[in-house]
Amino acid sequence: MPVPAVPDTVIETDALVIGAGPVGLFQAFQLGLLGLSAHLVDVLPQAGGQCVALYADKPIYDIPAVPVCTGRELTERLLSQIAPFRPGLHFGHEVQTLQLLDDGRFAVGTGSDCGAGPQFLARSVFVAAGVGAFTPRRLKVPGLEAHAQRQVVHHPEDVTPFAGQRVLVVGGDEAALLRAAQLAEHPCATQVILLHRRDQFSADADLLARVAALRAAGRLQVVIGQISAAHTADDRLQAVTVLGVQGDEVLWPLDVLIVCLGLSPRLGPIVDWGLEMERKLLRVDLATFETRLPGVYAVGDINTYPGKKKLILCGFHEATLAAHAAHDRLRPQEHGPLLYTTSSALLHRRLGLTS
Ligand code: FAD
Repeated sequence: MPVPAVPDTVIETDALVIGAGPVGLFQAFQLGLLGLSAHLVDVLPQAGGQCVALYADKPIYDIPAVPVCTGRELTERLLSQIAPFRPGLHFGHEVQTLQLLDDGRFAVGTGSDCGAGPQFLARSVFVAAGVGAFTPRRLKVPGLEAHAQRQVVHHPEDVTPFAGQRVLVVGGDEAALLRAAQLAEHPCATQVILLHRRDQFSADADLLARVAALRAAGRLQVVIGQISAAHTADDRLQAVTVLGVQGDEVLWPLDVLIVCLGLSPRLGPIVDWGLEMERKLLRVDLATFETRLPGVYAVGDINTYPGKKKLILCGFHEATLAAHAAHDRLRPQEHGPLLYTTSSALLHRRLGLTS
């Protein structure tokens, strides 16, 4: 593809990392140590990949030299480890297109529900996309999509912006219960309704007890049923109709609809980039973790090779070798002996320890 003129909105970088899960984050660290600039893009609103989206508060016991930490703590540690390199972090955008240009760089396009996102010109690309882009399951009710991002929000990280309003939370698992409880406990009086298909919820015992107590105190109302219609007036979602288990229909006025029906991974556009795949995974060279497209590497759960284990530790190793391979490719003149973080003045400068 010919090289496009670079508009102001295009970000030029040595490395574009697709996915800010644990492996994508560590990839940025290894690239930073080698003096390569990096930008990370994730479709989720936060870093951590599966560790935060699927098991944020559960313990992990097999990270070297960390006897135990939760998925969230591991992510926080990785974010603090990459901080000296100031990688660009772009959340809420899916990487949709990857094109090799005539000058050897890659044009990488992103987008979201709100339209086109940041565009990149990258000298190398690291696919750290795990099991795919996590996208929230959506309610298939005509008229709701028009209010996405404004009044209809999926798995929000922070519920405080919705305090003091009439909020309906849809879902029956930990994510839904936690958000409903946080809103019901907020000092700003908030009308919270938790809507689920059946009066059976799945969460740990503490959270179930917390919700039961809020329910008993009248601070949180539980409604059993499903949304069957959305009602819009003056361009705002005013109410939804809930179809109960007995076939009864009730109109619930609301300001905000929080949908927590789980996240499902979707490999999505990666399959269209011409990379060699085996059972929805990217095949890589074991010495470099390069895909069959030179300059494009695949690390973490997204890749496959003989003996592959989908473990964070293995992804960290892959990211280290991939960063060195990319460095050798992009800056062959800098190739030299391996530097140690304990003793290298250059690495200390890059880590911001000395000036
Ligand atoms: P992920 O964590 O999956 O992150 C990939 C990121 O890429 C996601 O955030 C996704 O949204 C994003 N993404 C994908 N495609 C795109 C795109 N096109 N555009 C933008 N963003 C995109 N491993 C261990 O080592 N020890 C454990 O104890 C352990 N426990 C686990 C417990 C559970 C319940 C689960 C589900 C997994 C566990 N794992 C454990 C496995 C571990 O979580 C994975 O190996 C690890 O998360 C892989 O990291 P990753 O960065 O490769 O991918």
